[in-house]
Amino acid sequence: MKIVFATNNAHKLQEIREILGDKFEILSLNDIGCHEDIPETGMTLEENAHQKASYVFEKYGYDCFADDTGLEVEALDGAPGVHSARYAEGTDHDSEANMAKLLRELDGKPNRKARFRTVIALIQKEGDSTVCSREYAFEGEVKGRIDTEKHGTAGFGYDPLFIPDGYDKSFAELGEDIKNQISHRARAVKQLAEHLLAE
Ligand code: IMP
Repeated sequence: MKIVFATNNAHKLQEIREILGDKFEILSLNDIGCHEDIPETGMTLEENAHQKASYVFEKYGYDCFADDTGLEVEALDGAPGVHSARYAEGTDHDSEANMAKLLRELDGKPNRKARFRTVIALIQKEGDSTVCSREYAFEGEVKGRIDTEKHGTAGFGYDPLFIPDGYDKSFAELGEDIKNQISHRARAVKQLAEHLLAE
């Protein structure tokens, strides 16, 4: 069965293909000829994931899922949250600038608690119907804390600053194998896979 993952991120595609095995053919946005920027204007991770999945479902007619992830810091009332990729003003996916801003905002604050949260929205056709659809949301989180300085070189984004609960090293020091077992995204993907494989 064909299903679109609304991304062109090779790492995310490989991860989900490995989990789902042969039962599903996971197509990327490139695979279906979707080269436009899909709007992501929601105020929450849930809204953004839904927006991306429904864009593909409605415009291209494929069953589709989409993810959105944010780092939520307790002492910053959940910021950067849905704005994680563009936290530092005037930037886009600039991890160094985002981490520098996070350290500045947390300077002097004793509460360093944080969590990563991933939401995956899935939209599927209802049987053979072209008009009726079913929609699901899956969520994964990993709790931890923000260090006072960066450590490690693996991973991406805020990984050098994030120390998951139960460890004393950052995601960027722990590396991909451990991260993929406990991460927010892995947990959300596992729930999605359980749903798809149960069908
Ligand atoms: P996206 O929804 O996967 O594109 O993630 C949005 C932003 O959250 C990214 O640009 C990163 O800054 C941050 N982020 C998402 N996942 C991770 C992660 O696993 N580690 C560190 N930062 C992440």
